[in-house]
Amino acid sequence: MNQVNGNLVDVHAHLADVRLRERLELILAVSEHQGVGGILANAARRTEWSIVCDLSRQPGVFGALGIHPFFPEDWREETLAELRQALTAPENRGRVLAVGEIGLDFQYGRDNAEQQLAMFRAQLQLAQELNLPVCLHNRKSWPDFFGVLKELGLSQVRGYCHHFTGSVDIAREALDRGLYLSFCGPVTYPGAHRLHQAARYVPADRMLTETDCPDLPVQRYRRLESRPWHVQFVVQCLAELRNETPERVASQVWANWQRLFFPDNP
Ligand SMILES: [Zn+2]
Repeated sequence: MNQVNGNLVDVHAHLADVRLRERLELILAVSEHQGVGGILANAARRTEWSIVCDLSRQPGVFGALGIHPFFPEDWREETLAELRQALTAPENRGRVLAVGEIGLDFQYGRDNAEQQLAMFRAQLQLAQELNLPVCLHNRKSWPDFFGVLKELGLSQVRGYCHHFTGSVDIAREALDRGLYLSFCGPVTYPGAHRLHQAARYVPADRMLTETDCPDLPVQRYRRLESRPWHVQFVVQCLAELRNETPERVASQVWANWQRLFFPDNP
């Protein structure tokens, strides 16, 4: 694919992941060189917040803070207040842009469902209160997720479904709520038919790209860790599925990134 000039976007990378620590500088330099103009570094754990905040001071890197549903033990009495403080800190203004990664994951059962639901509700409500977008992780939990929105009286949510893997019906319901759908490595797998359907279905103005770096590699680098610059292969795949040029898909995604995360500078 021809290189797209700095307008590739990775809306979901775990740059604070310990696996990347030694190589982060190189990873960011290569990503920039390969045309990635925007990366949203998502936190999964409480200990990653300060790392994400530091990273978000680098050009083209922005931050999202939250607790991932895998780590309910990180959610303590004081965590909500600490999250509010970090999200509203003057030094993070314009750099820490979202609440994430948050959501529900019942892939391995519902033993901690109540804990997951409690911390998800709290983080979602905080995002609403601060008018920040959310980065959503949902696995085997769509009915619960839509149930929470209903319970909280939220007909619209500003944010995106990271690594969207749902059916077209789920896609429609998420889109009706105002959400964006984000695609990553698995959409490039030849057998990922349901993902391909969703990628064809999503309107151009609600489509995002990501890597979930260092996880979910693209087909071409299936045995390796993913990197933010691999979004170019996601863009290429979306273009093929949607019968568009990669340049067109990249510019649509860039416009969506701007609209969702930088609504104050249109
Ligand atoms: Zn993630």
